[in-house]
Amino acid sequence: MSEIQKKVYDALIPANENLEVLTKTFVVDGYKVVAQHNPARAVSSGAKLDKATIAKRKCFLCKENRPVDQPSVIYNENFEILKNPFPILKKHLTIPLMRHERQEILPHIATMLDLSKDLPDFDLLYNGPKCGASAPDHMHFQAVQTGLMPLDEKSLSEFDIVDGEIRNFGRKCLVFVGSDKEAICKQYRELYNKLEIKEDEWEPRMNIVAHYIPSANIWNVWVFPRDKHRPSYYEQGRMISPGVIDMAGILVFPKPDDFEDVDESMIRQIYKEVSL
Ligand SMILES: [Zn+2]
Repeated sequence: MSEIQKKVYDALIPANENLEVLTKTFVVDGYKVVAQHNPARAVSSGAKLDKATIAKRKCFLCKENRPVDQPSVIYNENFEILKNPFPILKKHLTIPLMRHERQEILPHIATMLDLSKDLPDFDLLYNGPKCGASAPDHMHFQAVQTGLMPLDEKSLSEFDIVDGEIRNFGRKCLVFVGSDKEAICKQYRELYNKLEIKEDEWEPRMNIVAHYIPSANIWNVWVFPRDKHRPSYYEQGRMISPGVIDMAGILVFPKPDDFEDVDESMIRQIYKEVSL
């Protein structure tokens, strides 16, 4: 086991981690989607993320605003690995940059792949600033135990993939696979450069999942190009604010009524609206 992963287990992962959430499983157009009722996520899903609100609040990812005794593991002198206080899945980590800089993937895509190689039990996750990140002003990744999201329950060969894109998935998703880190970064940058950057934003909207498989010495990197930040259901009062875990097949509903009402057509509509 890698040195870093061992440190993460020792310092951050409770031996008997218990995560009690209600779930309902759907198969929508051939793909599994899990709806999860997780009231603790209301803070994140309902967060106001306009510039004024962000400028006024204390950044919860900066070290000086975090609990003094919160354990952490330093990664490459740049990132700090922490336990996520509001987990969606077991072994849910938050990995902020150790400087207060805006959420931005391009300078850190290679680090994301390095992190996933050093944490092979985990999926590394990235939310763009308008795609589920609850701190768009502070660069951070997340990580969760691998194999728990519908996206990575299956092997890639079970998906219908044409020219790097998963077909009939209900949401846009591209996949990069390989053992050459530089080649994956290059492919990723080419995709990035093709995508539009919306007015007043600094990068194309997207979510990313990266996982490294040691036995095969390959990375799987899934990219979800995004359109809307939140689906129209949000404006109608439903609390649903999709980030990377939602895109990977676990839709989080903090409010009981929304969880009660969720059905296949709602799931279809959410993915359609937030995907490019
Ligand atoms: Zn900060």
